[in-house]
Amino acid sequence: MKRPGSQAQKGTLVIRLKNEKQMAGIKASCRLLSDMYAELRPRIAAGVTTGELDRFAHAYIVEHGGTPAFLNYGDRSNPFPATLCVSINEEVIHGIPGNRVIRPGDVVGIDSGIELGGFYSDAAFSVAVPPVAPETEKLLRVTRECLERAIAAVKPGARIHDVSRAVFSHARANGFGVVRQFCGHGVGFSQHEDPQVPNYVGSGPNPRIVPGMVIAIEPMINAGGDGVAELDDGWTIVTLDGSASAHFEHTVAVTATGVEVLTAW
Ligand code: MG
Repeated sequence: MKRPGSQAQKGTLVIRLKNEKQMAGIKASCRLLSDMYAELRPRIAAGVTTGELDRFAHAYIVEHGGTPAFLNYGDRSNPFPATLCVSINEEVIHGIPGNRVIRPGDVVGIDSGIELGGFYSDAAFSVAVPPVAPETEKLLRVTRECLERAIAAVKPGARIHDVSRAVFSHARANGFGVVRQFCGHGVGFSQHEDPQVPNYVGSGPNPRIVPGMVIAIEPMINAGGDGVAELDDGWTIVTLDGSASAHFEHTVAVTATGVEVLTAW
């Protein structure tokens, strides 16, 4: 989701570390999100509307005591209107669910976040609806591998750019585009916190990774070029060249010895 204006002064990083008790709260939020995804995943099929998926997710989260964190997120003049972002084919992220019917061969990206007991989670996944073209299969596999490699780069003493590099190099090695305008982020006390976790190595802040950090890592990888554009709904991001895009995201916690994936399912 789009980050609201940072309260911190430009160039000032405010990374809020989580203690054990706070970590337990974040884990509970992440568990609810994972459980919801496990129930949602089999419902993604040809003939289903994106709005049906959204209504299922909303009901599940609310029934389990959570609050859909994406719903009404953002600028008051154009808040995000749904629980899930559902982004299909050339849509990269922030697709708005509605009457669109999922069709055979579609790449369906799902992204959501939950607030539970004051703690936030964030995760995303992409699936292809059969029949799946080999190039689609490869896009999904490589994007998932980008996330796995990025998570493997998370350990105390490493830096955020090590995570970025893991995503970028694997995507490029496979000839894919990497979205630069949106990135991963700290999460836990709110939906988006410092630090930013880009999917490429730029000139931005490169903080050291320390225990107590919680970050959402989210490679957005395009079958074609890097470029993206925003539709006039003010939310949906699409690839500039119309190529398909995939998105996988986990919330992870930095531990004393490495990393723990909190949104595994
Ligand atoms: Mg995110």
